[in-house]
Amino acid sequence: MSQILDRLPEVVAQLRVGLGLPAQILTDSHVGPAGSDTPGVSMSNAGRADPGTSDPGVSKPGITDLNAHDLVDRLDADEVEWFTRTAAEVMKLGEALVAIGAGRIAVLSDRELGYSGLAQRRGVRTAEHLVQSLTGSSYRDAARQVRIGGAMGEAKAVERAQAQASSRQVEADGEEPDVSLTVKVPWHFPISLAASKGTLSTSAAEAITRGLGDPTEDAPADLLQAAAERLLPLANTTDMDELGRLAREERNLIDVTGVAQREGALREMRGLRMLRRDATGMRGVALRLDPENEAIFSTLIDAATGPRRGGPRFVDAKNIAAAEALIADPRSTEQIALDTMIQLMELGAEADPGVLFPRQSAVRIVVTADSLDTRSEAGGLTGTGMLEDSREAVSGATLERTICSAELTAILLSPDNVPFESSIGKRLFDRRQRRALAVRDGGCMFPNCDRPVSWTEAHHIIPWSMSPKTEVIDGILLCRHHHMLLHNTGWVIRRRETDYVLVPPVGVDPDQKEIPLESKSGLMRARKRARPAARAPTGPPARSEPVGKPLDTIDSS
Ligand SMILES: [Zn+2]
Ligand SMILES: [Zn+2]
Repeated sequence: MSQILDRLPEVVAQLRVGLGLPAQILTDSHVGPAGSDTPGVSMSNAGRADPGTSDPGVSKPGITDLNAHDLVDRLDADEVEWFTRTAAEVMKLGEALVAIGAGRIAVLSDRELGYSGLAQRRGVRTAEHLVQSLTGSSYRDAARQVRIGGAMGEAKAVERAQAQASSRQVEADGEEPDVSLTVKVPWHFPISLAASKGTLSTSAAEAITRGLGDPTEDAPADLLQAAAERLLPLANTTDMDELGRLAREERNLIDVTGVAQREGALREMRGLRMLRRDATGMRGVALRLDPENEAIFSTLIDAATGPRRGGPRFVDAKNIAAAEALIADPRSTEQIALDTMIQLMELGAEADPGVLFPRQSAVRIVVTADSLDTRSEAGGLTGTGMLEDSREAVSGATLERTICSAELTAILLSPDNVPFESSIGKRLFDRRQRRALAVRDGGCMFPNCDRPVSWTEAHHIIPWSMSPKTEVIDGILLCRHHHMLLHNTGWVIRRRETDYVLVPPVGVDPDQKEIPLESKSGLMRARKRARPAARAPTGPPARSEPVGKPLDTIDSS
C-alpha cells in the first residue's frame, strides 16, 4: 500500500491532465514536506516530486497525450461500459480512502488532546471542519466521512485483533480458534468492513447505519448486526432513500417500543423557516416535515398537481376533462403547487372561525388487526402502523389520535389472499353534530388555548376501542397541538355529568388533580352561571340536562 500511496500523486496528476485540468495536486500549504508535522505521513516524500507546484500548467512528459474525451471517443460500446464501470470503482475507492483519512483525522483531533489536537492546530474547531476544508465538501458530507471513517477504523481494529487472536491460538494448541470470545465485534462490523474494502459506498454505509440506529436494550447489537447483513446485498442495487427507509423499517420491526420515541424526535425537528430575501426580491421558504406532516402536505400538493405527476388515473369523462385542463395549464407544476398552497392558506384564513370543518384527511395509515390489539399495561396502544404512501412508521399514540376522527376500513383477506374492503364504522361527527360541538365548546377546550373552532378537531373521550359510537356528549374540541398532547403524553379528558375535566399525567401532577374545562363560548359560560343547579351530582342524566338542551335543538334542526 505504501507504494500506492507514493504513486497516488502521480495517478491524480495523470487523471487531471486526462480531463484537461492543470496537473497541480496535493500541494496544499500544510501537506508539503516542510509543513508536515504529522508523524507517519510518508507519502509526502519520495513519490511526490512536487508535481506542478513550480509550474502548475505544465504536466509531466509522457502524460500529455492522455486525453479522456479523445480516448473514450475511440472506445467501442463494450469498452465504454468497462470504462464507466471502472471510473465508478475509482470513485468508490476514492471515497473509501477519504473516509479512512477522515477517521484518522478524527482520532488525531480527539477532544481530549485539546489544543494539541490536529484540527485545533490547523485553527479549526473539529475534525469535521478540517475534513471539510481539505475535501472542499459540505459539512454534512465531511461529518459523514468522519463517522464512516471512525466505524471503518473500529472494524479494522476488530479484524486485526481477530487475526492476532487466531494465530496466537493456533500456536498455542493448534485447535480451531474461537475469536468471538476474545474480540468484541461492533454491530456495524459487516457494513464498515464492506465500506473499508470499497465494496459499499460510504453513502450507502451511512444510510444503513443511520437507519438502523444505535443499539439499545430493546434493539440489541446482535439483532442490528443481523439486519445489517440482510441489507448489505441490497445496497448496490437500491437507491439511497429507499435503502435508508428499509433500514428504518428493520429497526422498527426490531424495536417496536422505540417507534413512538423516534416519531417524537422527528416531530421535534419540524419547522418552517423564511430564508433571506435575495437580490431579485424573491424569498425562499424552508420546510422540515416529519413523516406525518409530510404525508398531509404531500397529499394536498399531489392532489393539486396529480395528473402531471402520473398520479391516479381519472376514469369518468368529467374527470378526464379536468385532468386535461390541468395538463393544458401553462403554469409549471411548481407554480401550481405554490398557487394551491397560497389559495389554501387564504381560504383557511377567511374561513368562518366558528365552523368545525370535517377532517377527512386523505392520508391513509395501514395497520394490522393484531397491532390494534397490542396495548401496554397502562392501556396505551403500543402496536404501530405505517403511513401508506411513504411507508414510514407511526406510533400507537398517533394511530389513536388519527382513529379518533377517521374512518376505519377493514381490509379482509380471503383464504386465497384476495382483499375486500369493509367499512367498520365512521368515527366522523356529522354536520349537525359538528355544529353542536362548535356551539358548546366555542374553540379548543384546553385551558388558555385561543384556537377558534375552525382550527379544532373532535376528540372522542371514550376511545374507539371501547366504543365505536360517535356522540356529541363524548366529543370535545381540541386544536391539533393539544389533541396531540393528549394522545402522546398521557393527559386525559373525562366527563363529569355534562362538564369536562382535564386529568394531568402523573409526571406533571403526582396527585392528578382534575382541572375543570371551561367552554370558550361566552354564551355557554353565561348559561352555566345562570343555572348552577344543573351541576348538582343528583341531577338528571346528562342528556336531558339544561346544558344539553340547546345542543339537542341544533341536532334536530
Ligand atoms: Zn383524540
Ligand atoms: Zn389548543
